[in-house]
Amino acid sequence: MVAKLTGRIVYLNDKDYTKARENLNLFNSKFPGAIVYCEKEVDVINALAWARENNVSFRVRSGRHSYENFSVLNGGIIIDISELNKISVDLDKKIATIQAGTNLGKVYTHLWECGVTIPAGTEFSVGLAGLTLGGGIGLLSRLFGLTCDNLIGLRIVIPKGKSEAKVVDASRETNSNLFWACCGGGGGNFGIVTQFHFRVHPISIVSLFRVEWDWKHLEKAYNAWQTWAPFTDLRLTSQLELSTKSKNSIVAEGQFVGSKADLKKLIVPLVKNTKPRKIQVTTVTFIKAVKHFNNPAGNIPSFFKRSGSFVFKPLPSKAIEIIKQFLSDPPNEEATIWQQSLGGAVQQIKPTETAYFHRKAIIVQEYNTSWEKEEDASINLSWVVALRKALKPYIQGDYVNWPDVYIKNWPETYYGENYARLRKIKTEVDPFNVFRFQQSISPLP
Ligand SMILES: Cc1cc2nc3c(=O)[nH]c(=O)nc-3n(C[C@H](O)[C@H](O)[C@H](O)COP(=O)(O)OP(=O)(O)OC[C@H]3O[C@@H](n4cnc5c(N)ncnc54)[C@H](O)[C@@H]3O)c2cc1C
Repeated sequence: MVAKLTGRIVYLNDKDYTKARENLNLFNSKFPGAIVYCEKEVDVINALAWARENNVSFRVRSGRHSYENFSVLNGGIIIDISELNKISVDLDKKIATIQAGTNLGKVYTHLWECGVTIPAGTEFSVGLAGLTLGGGIGLLSRLFGLTCDNLIGLRIVIPKGKSEAKVVDASRETNSNLFWACCGGGGGNFGIVTQFHFRVHPISIVSLFRVEWDWKHLEKAYNAWQTWAPFTDLRLTSQLELSTKSKNSIVAEGQFVGSKADLKKLIVPLVKNTKPRKIQVTTVTFIKAVKHFNNPAGNIPSFFKRSGSFVFKPLPSKAIEIIKQFLSDPPNEEATIWQQSLGGAVQQIKPTETAYFHRKAIIVQEYNTSWEKEEDASINLSWVVALRKALKPYIQGDYVNWPDVYIKNWPETYYGENYARLRKIKTEVDPFNVFRFQQSISPLP
């Protein structure tokens, strides 16, 4: 068979090239030979077969949010599925069929028009594909689980024989190992997902809270939040953003699927004795809440370095002291340490039941820096690396959707005990290691 590239193709000299090659992270950006925008599933099959037949390197891309730019490369082709973005909803069966190139903004908006949703992340421009394949953490996680926990099935283009490609379905019943791997095994490892089927949940009104403290109360606020947020009513998921000392801001925000009166009672342990400077509680439509948590700045390309880890038991004061030191001496004012509460429905699934391993964590914690001039990269990178290292005695693992090329033992860090099974599945599905990048799962020798 002689494969041909089909779809909308942008080459190096085309006027759209710069826009087409750019990901959200401008640091360490790449220059692919061409970007193949797949408009139909067959374009995906053709692109994979063409790349294999011609021995051309490729990467798979959807929402362009990979922290380490694993969805782009120098030379080769990008197989971009962002134009495969149709959604249909069967309200009787409570199932949404969503093409894998859809971003979260479109997912939330479309599903809201049908009175339903899925639990997913916060920024609208994040791709559903990358998010789901790595897990998918958001403000409904404690109630409905991770995005991948709501996945019923998917279609995925995988290698066939020595140089071809084919599309297969995967679910708990069909190709169940591959399905298991797609629930937290990370994007870009096994194939190119073209379509997802999700279980959807009715949603209408939610209540939100926001509590702010002066920076000097960081320890009090952190302690109150970490001993409360992962253990409170599972209808309430929240986040805590610790800013730099000079910004003088600690903010906890959360979403509760319930009434304002109940939420006011639930936040008492967070605000009592912690000296907040501001407390707000409101009730809004779910779509308004989703728009509130979508930070437009997070959707604009910039230079950044992010990394993260999981917290399995509340941090002792020594660890909080480390956090304070790093936020007192940041590379610039914009650095933050951010956390989201877990537990609830995320914890009700066993660590080996899906490829997403860190089920027992109570908090997922993220280290963020961004900068404007290219020459400021090294000071920002060093800050994140040093912070992760300093907190090492108190944290475990990292979320595969927050990859960090400085983590040497990344297989164990992202996948824990599940790595061995992931490698076996990789060997079955992609024995020639066609899908590969700096931190991809490799087949067994
Ligand atoms: C601003 C911002 C906000 C974020 N917020 C959240 C959040 O709230 N919750 C959360 O859990 N995570 C969040 N993330 C992390 C996010 O889940 C990951 O960056 C995710 O990998 C992004 O997927 P993408 O499709 O946008 O990115 P891409 O860069 O397109 O892809 C990411 C990875 O998935 C692979 N991939 C993409 N499409 C496919 C496909 N169709 N089939 C197979 N592999 C594919 C790529 O090859 C790459 O390895 C956020 C990231 C950013 C930058």
